[in-house]
Amino acid sequence: MEFDESRIMKQTKSSKMSKEADHKQRMTLHCRHCNTVLGDSHGICGEIKCLDSILCLRVTDDVVVSASMELGQKGEMAKCIYSSLECRVCCSAVGKVIHSAPSRLAMVRSLFLLNKANISCYIFKRSLMVKASTLTFDVKPLKESMDMMKLQFEVQLEEMTRIKIRLAETSVTSKLVKK
Ligand SMILES: [Zn+2]
Repeated sequence: MEFDESRIMKQTKSSKMSKEADHKQRMTLHCRHCNTVLGDSHGICGEIKCLDSILCLRVTDDVVVSASMELGQKGEMAKCIYSSLECRVCCSAVGKVIHSAPSRLAMVRSLFLLNKANISCYIFKRSLMVKASTLTFDVKPLKESMDMMKLQFEVQLEEMTRIKIRLAETSVTSKLVKK
C-alpha cells in the first residue's frame, strides 16, 4: 500500500465534520410548545429512526415519566410496555420510555426517547433554534472508527518497515566503506 497522507487527512477531516454536524454540536433540547429545557447534547446517545426519536441517557427534571404503563398494540411499538413522557410545564407529550420490549427494540429499553416532532434544538455555535426533525442524531458506527484506526496503524507500520530497511541499507553501506 502506498503511503498517502492526504487520504488520511481527508478522512479525518470528513469524519470530524460529520461528527460536528449534528448531535456532537453543543445544544439544548426544548419542548416545542413552551421551550422548556428537556435535555442537552451530553445526554444524547443517538436516535432511533423507526420511532422518530432522539435517544437520551439523561433528561432534565422537567421531563415527567407518567405513572401509568401502556402496552403498544401495533406498529413498531407492538408488544412494548412503555410510559409516556410529558413536559412538566405545558403537559404536552414529548416522548416515551420503554420498560419492556421484544428483541428488536431491546437496545433502547430504559432510555428516554424524545419524539423529534415535539422537540426543538438550540444550537449554541449558531445561536439558532431549529426543529429536531431537521437534524440527525446518528452515532458513528463502531466499525467505521475501527476501520479508520486500522488504516492509521497500517500506514505507521509501513513507515516503520521503510525506516528499518533504510537503516539496514545504511549499515551495509558503512561496513563496505570501512573495508
Ligand atoms: Zn412544554
